[in-house]
Amino acid sequence: MPMKVLIADDANSDRLLLKLHLSKLGYKTIEASNGQEAIDQFVAHSQDLDLILMDVQMPRVNGFEAVRAIRTIQEEQKQEWLPVIFLSASAEDEDIEGGILAGGDDYLMKPISQKVLSAKMLAMQRIADMRRRLVESNLVLEQLASTDYLTGVANRRAFEMMLDREITFTRRYGSPMACAIFDLDKFKIVNDTYGHDAGDAVLVEVVSRIKSILRRGDTIGRLGGEEFGVILPKVSETELLDIFERYRIAVAEQPVKYESIEIPVTISVGVTLYTGYLEDRIALLKRADQSLYEAKETGRNKVVCNPI
Ligand code: GH3
Ligand code: MG
Ligand code: MG
Repeated sequence: MPMKVLIADDANSDRLLLKLHLSKLGYKTIEASNGQEAIDQFVAHSQDLDLILMDVQMPRVNGFEAVRAIRTIQEEQKQEWLPVIFLSASAEDEDIEGGILAGGDDYLMKPISQKVLSAKMLAMQRIADMRRRLVESNLVLEQLASTDYLTGVANRRAFEMMLDREITFTRRYGSPMACAIFDLDKFKIVNDTYGHDAGDAVLVEVVSRIKSILRRGDTIGRLGGEEFGVILPKVSETELLDIFERYRIAVAEQPVKYESIEIPVTISVGVTLYTGYLEDRIALLKRADQSLYEAKETGRNKVVCNPI
């Protein structure tokens, strides 16, 4: 896609010259004939604008003021960096300094040499590409840092963050949520009998079965080992047992197939309800854990609910 450049200059002849030059180089251009228009054009095209060439001396809103306004909008809307090059007849040190302080990335003296302008634009494009790659790899890293490698669900850190968010939400709006911990029963025996790879396959399959019955807005995360957490926003106490019985049955009703073997698997589920009472994540998880402990102690393959 060709780069889209905003040319802001009050002198028609300068604008035209730049426009001709840039279209020869293969750039698309849009124009503004004063600072206010430049701001308006920026707002209208901010989605696909790649660079701004901004004259400094313009009537009413000058180039510095326009760029300051644009930078403020960008910050407020958390937009990506957009290179700005000032073009001016003034070569005073103060003006160059002022341009950079106003949020410009470079400052060129008029009359503009076409060679220098294309070289500067190339340099800006390079920085923009580098930044884009950085943003993309940050997204990938963020994703990796919050995902469990084996099962692909949220890891403990990400799960806890989501739980905190749901707790805040429940406190504010008062719609109760459920938090549950489930743990595979006698999973050590699965590993010891069929091997660690079979154990891994069982974990993946169990998560996939539970995921297939989650409602929209529900969250699952791996708390560690063969223990998982789920958050169910907006549930009522009366439906809790039914919902988690479905989890239990989804796992227990059919053995997990691994290569040619069938591995029977069950889970125990500890459930608790959060109604907005001043309590933190740690207390909530502790309560779910107590329910889980009770399920384990009283026979496994079982759901225990301890709503408050
Ligand atoms: P309980 O019913 O009381 O929960 O018994 P359990 O055997 O499931 O519990 P225990 O904590 O004794 O053993 C858990 C086992 O889970 C031991 C550990 O090696 C295994 N495990 C934890 N993470 C993984 C994993 O990522 N892959 C595999 N294959 N095994 C795992
Ligand atoms: Mg276990
Ligand atoms: Mg365990």
